[in-house]
Amino acid sequence: MGTHGTVWLHRYCTHRSFSFSHPIWRFITQNLVIKTVPEEMYVVSHHVHHTKPDMPGDPYNSRAGLLYCMLAEVNHQRIAKDLSESDYKKTSRFIAHTGVQINSFKQYQKWGSVASPLYTLGVSALNWSFWYVVFFLLGGHALACALFTAALLWFILVRAFNYTGHGGGHVKHRDGIDFDRRNLSINQSRPGLLAGEWHNNHHLYPGSARAGFLPSQIDLAWIYIYLLHKMKMVSSYKDSKKEFLKKYIEKGHSKDMIPLAGKEYTIQHLSKIGNNIIPD
Ligand SMILES: [Zn+2]
Ligand SMILES: [Zn+2]
Repeated sequence: MGTHGTVWLHRYCTHRSFSFSHPIWRFITQNLVIKTVPEEMYVVSHHVHHTKPDMPGDPYNSRAGLLYCMLAEVNHQRIAKDLSESDYKKTSRFIAHTGVQINSFKQYQKWGSVASPLYTLGVSALNWSFWYVVFFLLGGHALACALFTAALLWFILVRAFNYTGHGGGHVKHRDGIDFDRRNLSINQSRPGLLAGEWHNNHHLYPGSARAGFLPSQIDLAWIYIYLLHKMKMVSSYKDSKKEFLKKYIEKGHSKDMIPLAGKEYTIQHLSKIGNNIIPD
């Protein structure tokens, strides 16, 4: 579910780092796991996060503490009842490419959401029924209930990443690992290896479909996107790895060997890794 959150909600819905060749691949990717987070809830607040990371107004400002981050969209992402029609149009464009059925301004004033309630309920009912039946056939009600409980736990606990991924409100950058020093984001191995959330790299290149740039930074979300591209289901993607290597690794290293995470690499070697799916 973590990798799916990165592929769907983060890299596709919010940052549009790749595009699908057909809406059917988009629909399958959207429903690849039990659906818990409605697109607009993630996308709108995440754009605000990138505009002012760790500053007042950031819906998950890590400096405000763990509880503030856990309550992100519940506590301080309330529905703007006074949104103008032109501002609503701008907001709705954030998710227009995702296939979600969008409300008109009049419907927004009635329902308070960008997505049509009928669409949200319909797609959730379809998704939940499909996965419940699949799990039930595999292991009865016990397996289905266990996996739906796990999905609910993920839905709640993933919010902690908003806090820990920004150093818990403290400067925890490491030399040679975290190159973006404009905010508190850090590259951590657990969210990185499990979900491709190399968060400091991501703040450097938010529009990149790949966030694992260094040799040890395996990025499962990128592997999914790249495989779909190889199977012609993804028509285009943006990959900023070469730009990263050029700007942050090559620069300042006139020597042939580049020290990184206890090993030494040549710039040719690091660039070659950029062509592989799984870095060695
Ligand atoms: Zn961040
Ligand atoms: Zn982002």
